[in-house]
Amino acid sequence: MKIAALAGGIGAARFLVGLRAAVPEAEVTVIGNTGDDISLHGLRVCPDLDTVMYTLGGGISAARGWGREDETFAVQDELAAYGVGPAWFGLGDRDLATHLVRTEMLAAGYALSAVTAALCERWKPGVTLLPMSDDRVETHVVLAGDDRRAIHFQEWWLRLHAGSPAESIIPVGAEDAKPAPGVLEAIAAADVVLFPPSNPVVSIGTILAVPGIADAVRTGGAPVVGVSPIIGGAPVRGMADACLTAIGVETTAAAVAAHYGARAAGGLLDGWLVDTADADTAAAAPGGVTVVARPLFMTDVTATAAIARAALELAGV
Ligand code: GDP
Ligand code: CA
Repeated sequence: MKIAALAGGIGAARFLVGLRAAVPEAEVTVIGNTGDDISLHGLRVCPDLDTVMYTLGGGISAARGWGREDETFAVQDELAAYGVGPAWFGLGDRDLATHLVRTEMLAAGYALSAVTAALCERWKPGVTLLPMSDDRVETHVVLAGDDRRAIHFQEWWLRLHAGSPAESIIPVGAEDAKPAPGVLEAIAAADVVLFPPSNPVVSIGTILAVPGIADAVRTGGAPVVGVSPIIGGAPVRGMADACLTAIGVETTAAAVAAHYGARAAGGLLDGWLVDTADADTAAAAPGGVTVVARPLFMTDVTATAAIARAALELAGV
C-alpha cells in the first residue's frame, strides 16, 4: 500500500509513528511543511521536517515533543551572554549539528529535498520525507491593530504565544513555489492520502498553498481522509484556535472539515475522523464527507496506531 501524508510537526509526527506501527509494510511518503522555516545565526532551521525526522528516527525529546533527547543549550546560553537572541527559539547543541549540516549543504548548492534525504540517512525514519517545496516559503503573521506589523510566524507563535490577534496569516513565497521533486508523484501514486491531526492553517494549509499540491489531492485517484486536530472545540495542544480565528473558521471539528470541503464538491476530503466527543459533527460536516468518530487522543503508540487504522478503514484501503 502506498500512502501520502501531508505533515506539520508534533501532531503529524506522533500520528506517523502510529501509522508506521499499524501498517509497517506500507510505503509512506510524508510531504512536510516548510513554512515554519527560519534562518537564525546564519543557520537554516526547518522545525517541522526535523520534528518528523527526529520523532520517527527515535531522537526526539519525548518531554518537549520537539528537539533532541538529552539536549543541552550551551551554545544558546553563550549567545545570550553576548546579548544575542532570540531567546524564544530553542536551539539545542545537538540540534545545532543538524542545522549546520543543512546550511552547509544548501550553501554547496543542494536542494532542500536532497539535504533532507541526506539527514534522513542517519535517522532512518522509515518513510520518505519530502519538503513540500525546495523553494523558500516563510509564513508571516500580520498583527491586527493600527500598525498592521508583519512578523515571522515563529515570533508570533513562540514569543507572543499567538496571543496577539492575527489579521491574516500569509505563507510568503508560496505562490511562486514549486512542489519539491516527488511530491506530486507521491500524491498521484498513492492508494490513500492522509491529513494527520496537524494545524489546518499553518501546517496543512501552508502545504496546500504551494501551487499544484491542492489540485493533485483534489483530482487524484486516491481517497483523502483527515484526522481532526480539534477535539471538543479546542486544539489538543498549541494555539490552532488563534490560526483558525484569523482565517474566519470556528474551532470545531465540523468547521475544519467544512473549511477543507468535500472532494465531491471540489474540496479536499472524502473522510473525516473526529473524536468521540465530536460524534455530532457528522450532521454539521459538509455533504460528501463521511464522518467517523473514534477516540483521537494520541496517548501512546497503541492508541495512535488504532487512530491510523481507523483512518485507513474510513478510506476503504
Ligand atoms: P506543529 O507543527 O508542531 O504545531 O504540529 P502539527 O501542525 O503537526 O500538529 C498540531 C496539531 O496537533 C494541534 O492543532 C493539536 O491540536 C494536534 N494534536 C496534538 N496532539 C493531538 C492528539 O493527541 N490528538 C489529536 N487529534 N490532535 C492532536
Ligand atoms: Ca509547525
